[in-house]
Amino acid sequence: MMKYRAWFQCIKGCSGKHELSEIIYRCPKCNNLLEVVHDMELLKQRSTAEWKELFDTRYKRSSWPYGSSVWGKKELVCPNVENENIVSAYEGGSNLFWAERLGREVGAPDLWIKQCGNNHTGSFKDLGITVLVSMVKQMIADGQKINAVACASTGDTSASLAAYCAMAGIQAIVFLPKHKVSNAQLIQPLANGALTVSLETDFDGCMKMVQKICSENNIYLANSMNSLRIEGQKTISIELLQQFDWKVPDVIIVPGGNLGNISAIGKGFLMMRELGFIDSLPNLICAQAQIANPLYLSYLNGFNEFHSVKAEKTAASAIQIGDPVSRDKAIKILKQFNGKVEQASEDELANAAAKADRTGLLNCPHTGVALAVLLKLIKRGEISQEHKVVVISTANGLKFADFQLRYHESRLPDVTSHYANLPVELPAEYEIVKNTILEKLEHSF
Ligand SMILES: *Cc1c(COP(=O)(O)O)cnc(C)c1O
Ligand SMILES: [Zn+2]
Repeated sequence: MMKYRAWFQCIKGCSGKHELSEIIYRCPKCNNLLEVVHDMELLKQRSTAEWKELFDTRYKRSSWPYGSSVWGKKELVCPNVENENIVSAYEGGSNLFWAERLGREVGAPDLWIKQCGNNHTGSFKDLGITVLVSMVKQMIADGQKINAVACASTGDTSASLAAYCAMAGIQAIVFLPKHKVSNAQLIQPLANGALTVSLETDFDGCMKMVQKICSENNIYLANSMNSLRIEGQKTISIELLQQFDWKVPDVIIVPGGNLGNISAIGKGFLMMRELGFIDSLPNLICAQAQIANPLYLSYLNGFNEFHSVKAEKTAASAIQIGDPVSRDKAIKILKQFNGKVEQASEDELANAAAKADRTGLLNCPHTGVALAVLLKLIKRGEISQEHKVVVISTANGLKFADFQLRYHESRLPDVTSHYANLPVELPAEYEIVKNTILEKLEHSF
């Protein structure tokens, strides 16, 4: 084992440490969530220059498991797993796309999109699931009895869990809300051999079910209340900094549902600051769908109260969550960043995604929420020309072809499709084809 150390601890500061190999998701004293805490003094024994050099020499290379950008930061993520038990598909190292044309058009020329959809199963969820499944493999190797790993999901967690469990030879069980995930998201766990349970309820209903099943049957719970996932996801921030030569961008916009990812991204920056890699923090902004916006409502009252809501059906299906598990973590983080929460309507998110697609992207609807929030903040003057802005794109747009097709067919509820573009159907006759194309060209761009 490495000399570095990490353990679970209560986010509200109750005393007591728990091993990462213990099956525990909540503080036994106050029932709040746990977080992974690292022995920072040990990590500080290496200078930031040495860490940077180490991370750079590993980044996207082939020495197992460090070519993965999650495991390339293993000491800061999860030192408690032996390399032979790591289950990895080369996570991270995702494209930081300079959205030059879009940025110029909307008045934020230094705009970057972090394409987390460029991960093995097409979303950022792989960054956390690799850590969780590796830990489970370690626990099984150490003799613990774990029959299966389960999660409730709005589609991407289940895809990721199913793939990583299949790689490790561990049974996955996924609970999906019936008819509420895309075809691509449904087919992934089926193809990877997960026991896929389609429940006649919403995500929040699936979440209650999976917690009960796991607590009673030696089944390990993989939802993001399991803070091992946060450790992997926080590498989004570390990798971002690495890609920007360790310079802090001004603004980060993150779509939020269960609120694990915004917590993770914040945690990554805080850790980088504590270790001396950076000395300032970005402005952190959480973007919610207007019809699934409990954090936004809480933000409006200064986070003094939090009420869960009934999340209505939004095109941004992965963030259709009214009772987010990681609310306390997210609020704690946003307070430390003096962060903001903003929301986007169905019309705003769909048109923002489509507008950006016109500049060569292919956005999932959640990224659309973040892009719509970007446009709002520019309009209000809170983001301007000189700001370096990063939009966290959470999934690959190809997973949400249903959404894009319905947009272009003007079939999305509450959306006026300003950028609809449908095939031009023509007979295969040269004159007609030529005349139509020439006429269309006069109206384009
Ligand atoms: C899971 C997910 C989110 C939301 O992340 P949380 O951690 O639940 O806030 C956003 N977009 C996509 C594509 C996701 O899969
Ligand atoms: Zn506690």
